[in-house]
Amino acid sequence: MVETKKDVRQLSLEEIQEFFVSIGEKPFRGKQLYEWLWKKSAKDFDQMTNISLKVRDKLKEHFTINYIQVDEMQRSTDGTIKNAVKLHDGLIVESVLIPTSKRITACISSQVGCSLDCNFCATARLKRMRNLNPDEIYDQVVAIKEEGELYFDRPLTNIVYMGMGEPLLNYQNVIDSIEKITSPTGLGMSPKRITLSTVGIPKMIKRMADEEVKFNLAVSLHSAIDETRSRMMPINEKSNLSELLESLQHWYNKTGRTVTFEYVVWKGINDDEEHARALAKYCGKVASKVNLIEYNPIDDGEFQQAAPEKIEMYEQILESKRVVVNVRRSRGKDIDAACGQLANKS
Ligand code: SAH
Repeated sequence: MVETKKDVRQLSLEEIQEFFVSIGEKPFRGKQLYEWLWKKSAKDFDQMTNISLKVRDKLKEHFTINYIQVDEMQRSTDGTIKNAVKLHDGLIVESVLIPTSKRITACISSQVGCSLDCNFCATARLKRMRNLNPDEIYDQVVAIKEEGELYFDRPLTNIVYMGMGEPLLNYQNVIDSIEKITSPTGLGMSPKRITLSTVGIPKMIKRMADEEVKFNLAVSLHSAIDETRSRMMPINEKSNLSELLESLQHWYNKTGRTVTFEYVVWKGINDDEEHARALAKYCGKVASKVNLIEYNPIDDGEFQQAAPEKIEMYEQILESKRVVVNVRRSRGKDIDAACGQLANKS
């Protein structure tokens, strides 16, 4: 059954306090509820032991807490954990815990499905069903934080908005979730440990820059040649590489923070010197670094990972132009938890 009561987490602190006054309670009681909801990530009202039973009953009468449910958890041989997360309306998104020696990273989703049609990505095969609410994004982080503590005995250190969906097409909810994650009344994490990954929507990148957000930006570039990029990522036909560049320069001028370009090298598509040189030139125009990501095949289609010597060729050309480049190995491949594989097969 779909819950029809309002999720109490859609209320601001002020609105919660007003509700408490309306039921004859002191406003500071509202503060206690708010703390349970966000800082203590309460999953139901009965956990809130310092709130009287009478008030808890009143709350239950009026509101619900649509906490996400981890429907299925899979563990990879490399330690990566994938959660299939069920939302209150039965839809499912996926999120991933990536452990390394220094970090526990949460890779979280911002939309159910995706509308962008990048033709190498598994999520693109699902149609976009809806945006996630701030609390649904927040809950994914909390679930992974708890798994990190339980299975690795370590705190969550980083969050990447690199799961399903395009965060800049769900802008306000994503910003609100980050506000909660970084607030001392929420998880109190540093925005420096958060990275938003986007296909690259210039108008929204400029807006973020103007709002002086404090988190990091990654852009899925994959080619610095318009013709090639447009063939893989239809968004590039709406806003091309030069528009994207202009927005990134604006981002850097406003925030002073370097952009990370995510880039996959595919056999026969962008694995030649011309593409590598175009990338180096593009990087020369804005403060940036490059992550070369391994390709995770989603079917036996046209996309295949380029040969190792092609990756070396990229590294050499980029380094010769003083561009910082990292080669990133995939994690969680055996459970379909790697980049671009999130698609919820069930
Ligand atoms: N919409 C956002 C975030 C989701 S995709 C974005 O486009 O950035 C997260 C990253 O995985 C992106 O860099 C995307 O290009 C990359 N990706 C998608 N499919 C992939 C695949 N099959 N193998 C490797 N990376 C992939």
